[in-house]
Amino acid sequence: MGRSDPPPAIPGLVDTHCHLDYPPMSDDLDGTLAAARAAGVEQVVHVGCAPDTIDRAVAIASAHRDVFAAVGVHPHDARDYDEHVEARLEALLDAPKVVALGETGLDYHYDRSPRATQRDALARQAALAARRRVPLVLHVRDAHDDALDVLAGVDLPAGGIVHCFTGDAACARRWLDRGFHVSFSGIVTFPKAPEVAEAARIVPTDRLLLETDAPYLAPVPVRGRRNTPANVAHTCAFVARLRTTAPEVLAHETAQNARRLLGLPRPAA
Ligand SMILES: [Zn+2]
Ligand SMILES: [Zn+2]
Repeated sequence: MGRSDPPPAIPGLVDTHCHLDYPPMSDDLDGTLAAARAAGVEQVVHVGCAPDTIDRAVAIASAHRDVFAAVGVHPHDARDYDEHVEARLEALLDAPKVVALGETGLDYHYDRSPRATQRDALARQAALAARRRVPLVLHVRDAHDDALDVLAGVDLPAGGIVHCFTGDAACARRWLDRGFHVSFSGIVTFPKAPEVAEAARIVPTDRLLLETDAPYLAPVPVRGRRNTPANVAHTCAFVARLRTTAPEVLAHETAQNARRLLGLPRPAA
């Protein structure tokens, strides 16, 4: 393929997790979204996950028809979580295009905030998601046992997503048993992650989601470049092959799941 490697156009896709507020996407949001539409991406969930980006996330969503927002505090920033941030988060949940709380969770790979602080911020945001009946978006890296432990006994009436899933099939089954949807990023396409591919193969059709986590983790064959929502088409094509289904069918099924879970409207024509 040529330098640009345009993704295959697969109509009906939803990118359930990306960060549009990074350059170069943020410098040309209209172009980024037009390229996504050309690849078949009908709707995008932009995640604002630091105290200083949550307000902008809501603004980005309200300015772009096909963009929705999730707001929360990332485990990296858990040390900045306090009652003031929590009150702002709760207020933002009332904005019309905010569809989920997150990403929150535990990241013991980078440990950018102390682990006890991460657990506390996760517990508080999970309680908020439960009380406000919004889906919870989780980022879990090298911390699945502890994340499941923190959430034990928390009733999440609107469910949730383990985003950018990096565990194996057994780990996926634990989250499925807990009622979560499992979302796969470009990592599933990496040759050194066969266990993630195996997890993507066994997740039931009605619990499967696709995402880019742009600007990170561009899938094969554009790995190593700045990722954008259009590339969810590459991940869809890869996961469809894994599951021996047609990319168009998988796009439709995963988009239906996203709409049902996140309450997205049917996309505008
Ligand atoms: Zn994440
Ligand atoms: Zn993310």
